[in-house]
Amino acid sequence: MRRFTMTIDGRGVESAQHFDVIDPATEQVCGRAPECSPEQLDAAFAAASTALRGWSGLAPERRGKALAAAADALERQTAELAAVLTAEQGKPLAQARAEIGSAVRWLRHFAGFTPNREVVQDDDVAFAEVLRRPLGVVAAITPWNFPVSLAFWKIAPALAAGNTVVVKPSPYTPLTTLRIGELLRGVLPDGVLGVVSGGDALGARLTRHPAPRKISFTGSTATGRKVLSAAADDLKRVTLELGGNDPAIVLDDVDVAEIAPKLFRTAFANSGQVCVAVKRIYAPRRLYADLVDALAHEAVTARTGDGRDPETLLGPVNNRPQLDRVAALVSDALSRGAVAAAGGSRLARDGYFFAPTVLAGAEDGMPVVDEEQFGPALPVVAYDDVDTVVERANASHFGLAGSVWGEDVERAARIAGRLDCGTSWVNAHIALAPHIPFAGAKWSGVGTENGRWGYEEFTQLKVEYVAGGSPARRRRSEPTTAAGRH
Ligand code: NAD
Repeated sequence: MRRFTMTIDGRGVESAQHFDVIDPATEQVCGRAPECSPEQLDAAFAAASTALRGWSGLAPERRGKALAAAADALERQTAELAAVLTAEQGKPLAQARAEIGSAVRWLRHFAGFTPNREVVQDDDVAFAEVLRRPLGVVAAITPWNFPVSLAFWKIAPALAAGNTVVVKPSPYTPLTTLRIGELLRGVLPDGVLGVVSGGDALGARLTRHPAPRKISFTGSTATGRKVLSAAADDLKRVTLELGGNDPAIVLDDVDVAEIAPKLFRTAFANSGQVCVAVKRIYAPRRLYADLVDALAHEAVTARTGDGRDPETLLGPVNNRPQLDRVAALVSDALSRGAVAAAGGSRLARDGYFFAPTVLAGAEDGMPVVDEEQFGPALPVVAYDDVDTVVERANASHFGLAGSVWGEDVERAARIAGRLDCGTSWVNAHIALAPHIPFAGAKWSGVGTENGRWGYEEFTQLKVEYVAGGSPARRRRSEPTTAAGRH
């Protein structure tokens, strides 16, 4: 059985205890990960603290070069990393390769960043400049749906801004992140990126540890609350990217045949295990039956299976508790009168497979509509009035993203503008890029990732104020020299 090592101070570290990682397509153990001890966590943070001085003191261009080298190293190993990711996460290999590619893309994007300096006053009274300085050591905690790309939403901007990072992946999917730590030893200076693995208790220990000045967390809303309260004592900075229950509002002028495949792809991407997947569709009553039929057709023709099979479009649910949750939400909806237009139950085979499910007759108030299902089950809700449907879409604790679909793009954009969430899309969903900020409203998050905004969350704003104006201005306004007066 392949064992992976943690990366602490640039070296491979074993642990006395290990835990098994399960391949969700086979339910077999696919690797073993070290259980990080409290002393090892101390060592990882000590190394990150020691490395901080050298790393933060480098010119941003030098840090950028190191990040570009890290991107090259990961790109060279794409095939190997993707195979590990598919084994532990379940997603099809092509999507695993794309996820490694997104880590490479994020590293290259943020490699070009330099901290902003902005002069806000420059006169005889004062020279005042706003600078951005690194925060210090960052603790990054990631979930199991996109363990690699979500880690690099944190690692790339944090390192570019001059911080050092200790990352802890989910116990369901630690292996690819551990392997990345192994590959980047010697590419990044020792201690700049530490990788530790363990269960939820280790995550809690990271958040309470005195070393990190910032916790960057992606995961569930329930855990996000715990992270926020753990950070409060020490006033650590936090960014929380949490759950979502994104609505897609379909307008009455759409071409159903054209949008159904797009809606299907954005609801069932990664088997629905995407924070910003379409999680509930609101369809006008006139088009309702046609849309349900078209979505059901997509669902029954989507090949579900082992991600190593090149024909597979949808992999398994990542883990047993999540599979049970999806199954419970679907059977609850069916018991309340919803109808499975496609799917509705587990697949009769090994692995955590759930048949892609389209729920017709779904209503607000059903848990599968009101809560985040995070799996391959999509409720479709009928509506009669577009104004009230916006209110219904907004009547959620979540506010990650939402989309409106319509031929009349101006009208669709006006309606999308009324959605109460961090991102609204028109005729698209899950359109994410390193230069576009991503933030959750309400229970979907605190703070922002990506773009200049996300980068700045890894910095401390500092004002430098010189009374009497800048040295250069003072030199200019001094009386001319003795020689000049002659
Ligand atoms: P989770 O909250 O159970 O776990 C996330 C991480 O937190 C894991 O590494 C876990 O070990 C760690 N953790 C658990 N308890 C902790 C604690 N008390 N203190 C610190 N860390 C702790 O989430 P999950 O089940 O792995 O992921 C699924 C959730 O993540 C979904 O709700 C999904 O919407 C959300 N998510 C959000 C985004 C986003 O960007 N908004 C992206 C992906 C996933």
